[in-house]
Order: sequence, then structure tokens, then C-alpha cells
Amino acid sequence: MQRNNKNQLVICTLLLFLLTNCSNNTQKKIAMKNNAPKMNLTEEEWKEKLSPEEFQVLRQKGTERAFTGKYTDNKEEGIYVCKGCGTELFSSETKFDSHCGWPSFYDGIDKSKITETLDLSHGMTRTEVTCSNCGGHLGHVFNDGPTDKTGLRYCINSISLGFIEKQEYDSLLKKK
Ligand SMILES: [Zn+2]
Repeated sequence: MQRNNKNQLVICTLLLFLLTNCSNNTQKKIAMKNNAPKMNLTEEEWKEKLSPEEFQVLRQKGTERAFTGKYTDNKEEGIYVCKGCGTELFSSETKFDSHCGWPSFYDGIDKSKITETLDLSHGMTRTEVTCSNCGGHLGHVFNDGPTDKTGLRYCINSISLGFIEKQEYDSLLKKK
């Protein structure tokens, strides 16, 4: 009887081990799949597609100087897209005045279109935000956004973005 119990215990432990191992592997695969950008251009191809300033921020994780970007104070209604690939990333509806010198949003249009990664560069602990489709560097997300909304502040370089005015965007949607 005792021996049987012991065997059962061994089998259970083994099963548990196998199950945890399998689900861990699946999780790792999903995480890797989500983090890998779908659009893969070579460095040369990106250089052809982007201006030197855009390349420096989007592909080399640079930061435009505060208060110099063209969308920092943009109050127009519309959609902000990735400058690298055109993916719709942010809406004017979630843009707010953060006075930090860069366009700030308290949320993205679709979380799956944005990838957030821990960034320990420059002696700081930050969360980098990249475009899930092309891997372009957009900026960082901080926890000091509007507390009546998400509490998040997506601090995004203007140069990483393009802007489509609401009217134009709506007519584009109708054509789709
Ligand atoms: Zn992109």
C-alpha cells in the first residue's frame, strides 16, 4: 500500500513537472513571437526609407530634443501612425498636455500594436515603447499620466510619428 502511494506520488510529480515545463515553453514562444517585429528591413533599406533624423530615432533609439517635435502641441483631431510603417498607434482622443516637451498619450489605440520592453540604458529604469509591426523606437511609457484615466504617459517622439487628420482618416476608412 505504501509503495503504491509512493509510486503515485512519483507519477504525479513527473506529470506536474512535464505540464509546467510544456506551458512555460509555450509562454516563451508566445512572448518571443509578440516581440519580434513582423516587418524586417535591413539597415540599408531603412536608411533609404527614412530621413537621417528619423533613422536615428526610429532605428537607433535616439530621442528628439524636448519641445522641438512638430506634434508636441498639436491639438488637431486625428490619428498618429508609425513613421516607419504606417501602423495606427495613437489617437488625438488620448493625447494630453504633459508639458514634458514630447507628444504624450495616456493610451494606445490597440495594445497589440505597441511593444513595451524594459530599458536599463543611460543608468535609468524605463519602459521602452516600440511599434510591434516594424520594431521602430517610439519613446517610453511612464507611470505619471492622468490618474483619472490610465495613469500612464506614453512619451513619444514626434519624429517617430505621422499624423492623419480626422476627416482624411474617416474618408480613408470609407474607402477601405
Ligand atoms: Zn512601425
